[in-house]
Amino acid sequence: MTVVVVGSLNQDLVVGLQRMPDPGETVFGDRLERFAGGKGLNQAVAAARAGARVAMIGAVGSDDAGSWLRELVVGEGIDGSGVRSVAGPTGTAIIEVDHSGMNRIVVVAGANAEVDADHVQQALARLDEVAVVLVQHEVPGDAVRAAMRFGRARGAITILNPAPARDIGDLDPADVDLLVPNEHEAADLAGLPTQDLQQAQGAAERLRGAGFRTVVITRGASGVIWSGPEGTGSMPAFEVTAVDTVAAGDAFCGGLATSLAAGLPLPDALRRASAGGALAASASGAVPSLPDRAAIDSLVG
Ligand code: ADP
Repeated sequence: MTVVVVGSLNQDLVVGLQRMPDPGETVFGDRLERFAGGKGLNQAVAAARAGARVAMIGAVGSDDAGSWLRELVVGEGIDGSGVRSVAGPTGTAIIEVDHSGMNRIVVVAGANAEVDADHVQQALARLDEVAVVLVQHEVPGDAVRAAMRFGRARGAITILNPAPARDIGDLDPADVDLLVPNEHEAADLAGLPTQDLQQAQGAAERLRGAGFRTVVITRGASGVIWSGPEGTGSMPAFEVTAVDTVAAGDAFCGGLATSLAAGLPLPDALRRASAGGALAASASGAVPSLPDRAAIDSLVG
């Protein structure tokens, strides 16, 4: 059974510098590194490492970053036949980090902005045994809606991770089996604060009231809550020493998709997803921090 991830692929260019330049000023950086990123790619890698058969649908540019990301996809054992090459640049994040650790980030969507409903529909139609379709908010709304609509029409479990937060627009909540925001995104979507457990449950209920079947809200080191037709619940996070929580949510979503594709009931799937999130939080970087199945097994115990 296949997990299909519809989403972004980015190169992250990290520039280290002593201090941020003033407008019009030139400063020298002392470090330049390139990392693979984009929530789509991170979640596809997370699912593949967690043990799923994964296919990715997205787009890269006709530049060297595009070929580099394609190789990375294949190297992780992911079917990249749904990743189109389009004219223009690959999605790029330019991340400036000064000596105090403060950062400034500019994201150019590039090829990610070219993913559209036709492409998603055609690429999905070519895949067999689609168990889960997972999408985030780093591709156009048209592509998000198509992923959910056509995923559900194929009988797959559809998961929307609405990150980064943005207006869901005319998405039909009935096409979404699981909505998986973090607490900030949940607050944004529900128009309610989610500072504590009770408020998070309130936000989940409000989102269910808007028509989403099951809502799972991730709360970092405070764990996860959920609400769905079978009831509501909460689960604490695994206790780990957090090093860098970048991609914790991506490890969670990729792990959740993997466990649901394998037929696990929601509470068990959430436990494995939480283990993935905790492991990603306890290692630095995005893709390098994503755990494999053995690491998840051993934390879940
Ligand atoms: P995002 O990265 O999208 O903001 P969260 O920070 O809520 O998402 O993290 C997703 C999940 O990863 C959490 O629900 C939790 O299970 C796990 N996680 C994140 N941070 C930690 C942490 N410091 N300790 C343990 N688990 C964590």
